[in-house]
Amino acid sequence: MNATPASLNLPDYAPIPATAFGPAPNAQGYYVGRVERNLYWVTDGVYQAAFLTTSDGVVLFDAPPSIGHNLQRAIDEIARANGASNKVAYVVHTHHHADHAGASSLFGKDVVRIGHEETRRLLLRDDDPARPAPTETFTDRRTLEIGGERIELAWHGPNHTPDNSIIHFPEHDTLMMADIVNVGWVPVFVVNLSDDIPGYLSMPAAALSYPWSTLISGHLGRLGKREDVALHQQYMADLEASAKTALATVDPTPYFQKYGAVGNMWGAVKAYLNAVGDATAAPVIEKYTGVLAAADVFTPDVAFWLMESIRLNRGIGLQVHP
Ligand SMILES: [Zn+2]
Ligand SMILES: [Zn+2]
Repeated sequence: MNATPASLNLPDYAPIPATAFGPAPNAQGYYVGRVERNLYWVTDGVYQAAFLTTSDGVVLFDAPPSIGHNLQRAIDEIARANGASNKVAYVVHTHHHADHAGASSLFGKDVVRIGHEETRRLLLRDDDPARPAPTETFTDRRTLEIGGERIELAWHGPNHTPDNSIIHFPEHDTLMMADIVNVGWVPVFVVNLSDDIPGYLSMPAAALSYPWSTLISGHLGRLGKREDVALHQQYMADLEASAKTALATVDPTPYFQKYGAVGNMWGAVKAYLNAVGDATAAPVIEKYTGVLAAADVFTPDVAFWLMESIRLNRGIGLQVHP
């Protein structure tokens, strides 16, 4: 391997805790394992999908393109071992994003695609041949009975995306919820790339309102437990408390003096809010390094955007002119 060019100036980060990793992928780059009975999960270490083998064919939950053709290989492997059908008959989507749905077209035109009505609307808008729109939709809740298996779909309002929905497997003691809790890891970028941050923040409690023992979180290399959701909630609550303190204590004066003097309002706003974001992140990075993987990598981004949401959605840190 070539050495990293010094000109890139790439930072070193804290070591990733061993608890963040799951089972090693095989030579083809995937791991497939049983969740419970006929419910299985597949991962490439970064993305996760799930499938049920039923008497009415395979029901696939999400189709991340990074797993791609390994989805069918994983299904073949399980079907062969169990004497079950390997034919994917249904694809159920958590949400419309291409990184979780972009291998959908590999399963052809004849599979039944199921998703939230907003997933259908957004996929028709995006017009991506890799992601045909669902033809079976739901608004708030829908129970699927496929090959004798019960699958409960539920939408709890806009969150990471307008359509992102929960898939509950009541007979498998399992919940699938993508792009909210990254099991063992912190969220990424803009509060896990969320369109609606207050909605994002409410999803862990919604997940915990269902009975389940195993979480399929859509990301990274291992399955989750209820404790993983609770730890994520604590991390977000700590960030929120830290943001409130930072908004109340970081003095805007020096930023507005320096940049305001030359009429550069955006220069002042950027420097001040960056300082508030840094003050929000610092104690949380310290507390979670070694606890949640990549706390030092993404907490600054998450802290900044959570702080902005607290300002804009809740009005904290804004004053009415006297
Ligand atoms: Zn997404
Ligand atoms: Zn994702």
